[in-house]
Amino acid sequence: MSRRKQIYEGKAKVMFEGPEPGTLVQYFKDDATAFNNQKKGTITGKGVLNNRISEYLMMRLAEIGIPTHFIRRLNMREQLVRQVEIIPIEVVVRNIIAGSLAKRFGMEEGGALPRSIVEYYYKKDELGDPMVSEEHITCFGWATTQDLDDIMQMSLRINDFLTGLFLGIGIKLVDFKLEFGRVYENDSMRLVLADEISPDNCRLWDLKTNEKLDKDRFRRDLGRVEEAYQEVARRLGILPEGAPGDAKGTETVQ
Ligand code: ADP
Ligand code: UDP
Repeated sequence: MSRRKQIYEGKAKVMFEGPEPGTLVQYFKDDATAFNNQKKGTITGKGVLNNRISEYLMMRLAEIGIPTHFIRRLNMREQLVRQVEIIPIEVVVRNIIAGSLAKRFGMEEGGALPRSIVEYYYKKDELGDPMVSEEHITCFGWATTQDLDDIMQMSLRINDFLTGLFLGIGIKLVDFKLEFGRVYENDSMRLVLADEISPDNCRLWDLKTNEKLDKDRFRRDLGRVEEAYQEVARRLGILPEGAPGDAKGTETVQ
């Protein structure tokens, strides 16, 4: 980890300077946080699993024409990505009532929404990521109306594709969070999907039992957290060698 210059250390990942200009190395930690950093812990092997799961999902999304920051996986915990200028908005897509939506409106979790809902939150830990409208986003200059049109279109396409992909392996995609960034290329700018897609930022429920296979197991102290992440990777057909459950363990992989 000390080979490269560290650009940023976040709650779940560390970003290092990449080998070429305009690239970053994204290192996935086992650290887990919830409730705006109030709850902290470690999920052994999470970083290895999220690196692999996010690689797989980003590659599948690229195949259907979604531009992403992902370039290639480097090792068990690191992937090479394009450096982007992150738009400070968390885009949440919801298919089933859960989490803060259930809480905000006093609804029970589990009801299917008649149509998918897309919400925006301002990415600012100190403020607890407040929900914002398109008006706030354009007024404060975080993104333009055109950016938001593109973001909405990509988010709904990603939702359609991932909903089908997860259904195929017996999982309901309840909701998830996306981040987008800007890439500048010869006088033009385009938006790409950045950050990660993993059980850290998706709600994934078993189709038959509704068993939670995501970070809610950590948030709500349900136990068997690493096993849930492992189950998602197993169903996707990508359980990495050396992941928890594998005889070799993860200690040797930094
Ligand atoms: P947080 O910052 O919320 O604690 P992480 O620990 O996941 O989150 O840190 C990763 C950080 O890197 C996030 O702030 C994310 O917005 C940012 N990021 C993700 N992908 C890229 C990218 N391709 N280029 C630049 N920054 C990125
Ligand atoms: N989410 C996330 N990062 C955040 C907030 C939410 O990845 O900072 C994800 C979360 O895992 C869930 C979805 O976005 O899949 C919706 O989260 P919600 O608004 O219900 O918030 P929560 O109650 O999970 O904090």
